[in-house]
Amino acid sequence: MSEQLNKMIEYKQKTTLAMAFSIANDKSLAKDILEKKIKSDHFDELIFQFEKNNLYKNSWMQILDKDLKPVYLSSNKQNGITENTIREDLMEASALEKPIVSVSVGNYDLSIRAIVPIIRDSKFIGLVEISSRFNSISQQMKDFGVESVVVLNKEYKNSIKIPFSKTFVDDYYIANIDAPIVFTSYLRRNGIYNYIHLPYKSENGYIISIHPLKNIQNRIIGHYIMFKKQDDVLNINLDFFMYKWFSIAIVAFMIIAGIVGNLVLYRSKKQKMYYKNIIDSSSNIVMVVDKENIIDMNKTFFKYFYGFKTPEEFKEAHQSISDFFIQEDGCIYKDMAGISWLEYLMKYPKNNLVKISYNEKEYYFTAGISLISEENGHYSVIFADVTEEKIYQKELEHTNITDPLTKIRNRYYYNEQIKKESASSNRYFYPLSLVIFDIDHFKKINDNYGHDVGDKVLIEYTKLITTYLRDSDIFCRIGGEEFALILPHVNKSDAYKIADKIRMKVQEHKDILAVTMSFGVTEYVKGEDIEVTFKRADKALYGAKNGGRNRVVFR
Ligand code: GH3
Ligand code: MG
Ligand code: MG
Repeated sequence: MSEQLNKMIEYKQKTTLAMAFSIANDKSLAKDILEKKIKSDHFDELIFQFEKNNLYKNSWMQILDKDLKPVYLSSNKQNGITENTIREDLMEASALEKPIVSVSVGNYDLSIRAIVPIIRDSKFIGLVEISSRFNSISQQMKDFGVESVVVLNKEYKNSIKIPFSKTFVDDYYIANIDAPIVFTSYLRRNGIYNYIHLPYKSENGYIISIHPLKNIQNRIIGHYIMFKKQDDVLNINLDFFMYKWFSIAIVAFMIIAGIVGNLVLYRSKKQKMYYKNIIDSSSNIVMVVDKENIIDMNKTFFKYFYGFKTPEEFKEAHQSISDFFIQEDGCIYKDMAGISWLEYLMKYPKNNLVKISYNEKEYYFTAGISLISEENGHYSVIFADVTEEKIYQKELEHTNITDPLTKIRNRYYYNEQIKKESASSNRYFYPLSLVIFDIDHFKKINDNYGHDVGDKVLIEYTKLITTYLRDSDIFCRIGGEEFALILPHVNKSDAYKIADKIRMKVQEHKDILAVTMSFGVTEYVKGEDIEVTFKRADKALYGAKNGGRNRVVFR
């Protein structure tokens, strides 16, 4: 989660920077500052447009002259309060004449700021500063089931002049208005100190992830605390969302760049340079394409396709990146049911995964797309690497379905699989059998030899049984010393034979301790509720126990 948040912050910083860049590059701005004739309406309109056209709300802007005196302040900056302390970041940007982007504490709350110097003919004319409130990030996290509490460190208690949220936990200011009261009181009750030094904690059914927020001097100024329900951690939508968000913001930036400079992006060298700088700094693959061909790509593209050095080199050898797509369940490929992958992306823009193989390495990406120019049919396509998340997801899926003691499948997996298998047995008319079995007098083992020996017996005998199973058999631990074996394509008499073979092998095996097992076998009846099947098998098992144990009973 922290990683996701990091990316989200980074994206927000980049889009803020992109916007500041585009304004600082306005042709007439430098002249206007020198002549002290700022077109306020024009910039008010720009901010308005920017807020209206993308997800990027709550921004304000100021333009400063070379002495750092404000010459324009967007009208949406609440109350028009000017900060009377000398701001280090403004000083730094003017002294170094370089853009700065940071997370910082303002009068109201926490925000992301981008400061870009305005330079004309190598002379420093002034600064453009765009600030954007942190709140939008927590709102977007909400869409993915993540609740956020953004806290500012104690020492900022007094510098927040108009605390929007008006909420403090101890001396820590809660910077996001939408912080749920349940979670702020939770932190208050348990002591916020117990959280802010940890990367994460798992508590009361929630995964709590804590991410430090650093300012430009790399000092921790606060913490972003995320709460996510433990049972829905399997979620890569967040990634997709961010790419989409990022691409929308970039496109919005390009539109604004067009408005400000009255220039069409590809005709102006300078605009193109700024555009390229920002796009190149993205950790995602960003491409400009038309319906068939790749037109341009950023630097990151060549980090993956390292055998090529320039767009020209790649284009000579390949028409499209889709030459490298690998077909896999849930991934898009070159032709999707008769339409190209690009058309498919436009049509179904959500949750698209792409698998790419290049020089024997495989990657997963989520793909986002935006139309840049209707006229030319140009799209910007963004591929964000989710290989690690995908691997993590696979591992997580594995741990969710694996019994930690015996390493065989767990009850959850049993429930999922029996549903699936009964459905396909119904559809394709193949037999399906179920065996439920249980260790005899297991309690005595625990009582006589201790729980540890009991555990070892469980491990030893599940391992033994596994060696007699086929790949298609589904072996699960569904209770303490109770197991289920789902046997697709196996009828009742074969299921009986399989169960009896296992019974014998268990009886013959004497490692650690000699044990026996009792078995209940049944066959699934087409159309019946799977609970009914289970009960029948369980009754058969009961019959085996009653009949003297160490036997197989069929019902
Ligand atoms: P029966 O032949 O009728 O099945 O007798 P039993 O003693 O095996 O049956 P019962 O269900 O009464 O007892 C099962 C015991 O298994 C009770 C419990 O303490 C033990 N058990 C359950 N899970 C574990 C585990 O993970 N490790 C160990 N060591 N023992 C376990
Ligand atoms: Mg038992
Ligand atoms: Mg039992």
